[in-house]
Amino acid sequence: MYETNETHDRGLTSWVESANDSQTDFPIQNLPFCRFRTLISGLGIGVGIGDQILDVSLCVKEGLLRTSIDHAVIHGNMNALMEISVTERAELRASISRLLSENNTALRDNPMARQRALLAQDSVEFVLPCTVGDYTDFYASVFHATNIGSMFRPDNPLLPNYKYIPIGYHGRGSSLIVSGHDVRRPVGQLPPAQDGGAPGFGPCKLLDYELEVGMYVGRGNRLGEPIPINEAEDHLFGLCLVNDWSARDLQRWEYQPLGPFLAKSFATTLSPWIVTMEALAPFRCPAFQRPSSDPQPLPYLLCDNTTHSGGVDLNLEVLLQSAKMKETGEGPIKMSSSNLRDLYWTPAQMLTHHSSNGCNMSAGDLFASGTVSGPTRSARGCLMELTWDGELDNPVPGTERTPIQLPTGEQRKFLADGDEVIFRGACSADGFRTIGFGECRGAVVPALEPAHQTT
Ligand code: CA
Repeated sequence: MYETNETHDRGLTSWVESANDSQTDFPIQNLPFCRFRTLISGLGIGVGIGDQILDVSLCVKEGLLRTSIDHAVIHGNMNALMEISVTERAELRASISRLLSENNTALRDNPMARQRALLAQDSVEFVLPCTVGDYTDFYASVFHATNIGSMFRPDNPLLPNYKYIPIGYHGRGSSLIVSGHDVRRPVGQLPPAQDGGAPGFGPCKLLDYELEVGMYVGRGNRLGEPIPINEAEDHLFGLCLVNDWSARDLQRWEYQPLGPFLAKSFATTLSPWIVTMEALAPFRCPAFQRPSSDPQPLPYLLCDNTTHSGGVDLNLEVLLQSAKMKETGEGPIKMSSSNLRDLYWTPAQMLTHHSSNGCNMSAGDLFASGTVSGPTRSARGCLMELTWDGELDNPVPGTERTPIQLPTGEQRKFLADGDEVIFRGACSADGFRTIGFGECRGAVVPALEPAHQTT
């Protein structure tokens, strides 16, 4: 497991003044990685510090930081950086922390170098933090799985495998996009209006978001060689926020018998930052406390580390702002808040299960948690849960099948064109500085006109 050390010291401050602001997501105790592009320097690897980015690629090039893979880092190859050993990762974190700390003069007192090495976050173009070779989406919230199951099988919401297998499906890496890019409403086959009828084809009417957390793989494994549960943490590199945009009507028609396909693959938004496992060390917590009536995980998914500190205490929230709210100056409203610690499976269990058949993982592979919902209504991480599949039945006063009311008088069952969805996340613990995840943001733009759909 990852231990706390001097880089987590609450008293540590930086000569980058904005990093000492109590409200920043990126104090010197965080140091999340990102990749960015500028007209001058091209593609680079950076680290968030206050409202700035430390250009790690440039610092390596100028000898201010050292790694065993300097050439790759200089050229923005994040995947190579993700593959270095846990020991070397810790050394790099410590050296970045020293370089940015209040009393270190190397950059602080060199205005020319400092100007080159620090970039305002709002001045760069963020790109995906690494090349994601393979993307897998899990279904690890028992609260989400129970809610969704209840809508279709009220008497038997959870299928018998759920408490034994971290359920997942292979997603699509090509349509991963970074926060801030618009998401086009997808077009597809829509369920028949009547049983036995033919489906329609047109823009999705039931567009939803799913609040998820992404886990990046660090060093991979060879084909045929599973990752044991007590080594899984060493193969995790860090976490991000994920919006698994979902077309519920396409999904309903296509999902049997092989699961989600085009309902999920039109876009998945990632926050630009990777908060490393090292940074998360103070915020680990026990795995989900299963009710005594639930089975224990099979032995290949159990070890003391994952039981006692395999969870992550990460607070998450969803905000929404419609186009009309923007026009009228209304800020985003909070839709829900939940916590990653409520997942039924730990990240290590998901990774170990994924590799248990010998499937090989590579540095930069991404797996998402599945919608992070909690036990209460205000902790439901998608609209389908919040409005209890609002479109299926007419709203019934006094029940949960009611639309969301927006301050403009608008109502929502699912997303309308122009709606912007924003996810945020932060970790807090007594005795430690709070660290944030930045934002995962995307606005819905209208589907292409039919004339464009065939060209
Ligand atoms: Ca999902």
